[in-house]
Amino acid sequence: MTSTLTQGYRGEGKKTLEQFSVGVWSDVEVETQQGRFRGIVLPRSETSDEKHIVLKLATGYNVGIKANTVTNVIEHGKRVANYKIPEKKFPYHPNKPNVTLFGTGGTIASRLDYRSGAVIPAFSPGELYGSVPELADYCNLTTEKLYGVFSENMGPEQYIALAKRIGDEIRNGVDGIVIGHGTDTMHHTAAVLSFMVQNSPIPIVMVGSQRSSDRPSSDAAINLINAVKAAAESDIAEVLVCMFGPTSDQYCLLHRGTRVRKMHSSYRSTFRTIGDIPLGQIDTTRIDCFRDDYNRRRTDREVTILPTFDEKVTILYYYPNMMPDIVDAMVEKGYRGIVIAGTGLGHVNKPLYPALKRAVDQGVHVYMTVQTLWGYVQMYVYETGRKIMELGVVPAANMLPEVAFMKLSWALGQTTDREEVKRIMLTPICDEITQREPYNGYLVFQGAVPEVQQFIRGIKR
Ligand code: ASP
Repeated sequence: MTSTLTQGYRGEGKKTLEQFSVGVWSDVEVETQQGRFRGIVLPRSETSDEKHIVLKLATGYNVGIKANTVTNVIEHGKRVANYKIPEKKFPYHPNKPNVTLFGTGGTIASRLDYRSGAVIPAFSPGELYGSVPELADYCNLTTEKLYGVFSENMGPEQYIALAKRIGDEIRNGVDGIVIGHGTDTMHHTAAVLSFMVQNSPIPIVMVGSQRSSDRPSSDAAINLINAVKAAAESDIAEVLVCMFGPTSDQYCLLHRGTRVRKMHSSYRSTFRTIGDIPLGQIDTTRIDCFRDDYNRRRTDREVTILPTFDEKVTILYYYPNMMPDIVDAMVEKGYRGIVIAGTGLGHVNKPLYPALKRAVDQGVHVYMTVQTLWGYVQMYVYETGRKIMELGVVPAANMLPEVAFMKLSWALGQTTDREEVKRIMLTPICDEITQREPYNGYLVFQGAVPEVQQFIRGIKR
């Protein structure tokens, strides 16, 4: 009798495992009609299909092998995975800065759940130090799990609570704050915190990871180490995003909370400053600031927390032939703010004009941003732009659509007075609107263009 487990396997998958007397955690060589694979048999979830056997390869990647293509399986032993990260007490050093890390969830706080096969949020302070002991080189770290959610589940309730906790921690005298967060909506949270937490005397650094820490190519540790270092040592007292910079593990970039955006669904180097250059770069040996127009770290504890948010705000991403009934429906449903992501310099089609006028007349605050992300709304260039402004749609300069959405939600939480909302919207708080976009703030890497190829070859050497 073998002690093999077929946990989660059913049908053909289970039959094949039983046929070769192997099971979950067996270290196997599987011969198939397509070739040979070496790896550990992983458990499967109750909901997964019956046809595949899943192996974790030495590279850390998982492959699914069709059970009916397997011709032979050789077992080289068992390698039961221990996914429990050792908990260790974070050391304290009186001369080191004190940093608080708030966990909200996301991949950075995740490890694989082999029962469901999914990455689940599992944040624990002791686990963090157990897995990334380098953090103790920079600071005394206190951690607090506020949430354990993937970032699509972050919203006003969490933003407000987070802003208030940040205020408390600053007043308690902490030297830096790190926020672990899912990457998908990190730029939304960074933007709203930039408005809710103003005049911070210390760095507030958001960090996440694109790949979970059980994967060999994980960016979790490097991002976290650099974020903690930025919070402990950097002079930039603003809401920042600290994430993987180039395509290899060399350094992280520090982005301003209102000018940053997730730009690739899976690359680790996904966060990019839009319409400007990043604030700086950081690695374990140094912090280089690329510019000097940032708020400096201070020793006082004055911070302004403005935790307001109106949930009845939306982004209207324009597409050709959009029907006006969409706008009418928003007004009917009680939306008080609409941020349009318009085409080119800030346009929508003519049939929308009367609906936008109706919206403005009923007190809805309508702002125009651009889908191109780079560049400014310029509604004086074409007659159509002027018409749209005449309807009462306000151009929002070079505010990114998501940032304008967050700012309008935040502003409408304070007032609905049209002029006051406009004043708040168009007065830059932390570079959400800039005077100009430098030429080197534009994303220029584009394959196949000869001079760019040559440039890339030069850096890769
Ligand atoms: N879906 C995840 C999140 O945003 C992705 C990540 O953390 O990178 O929560």
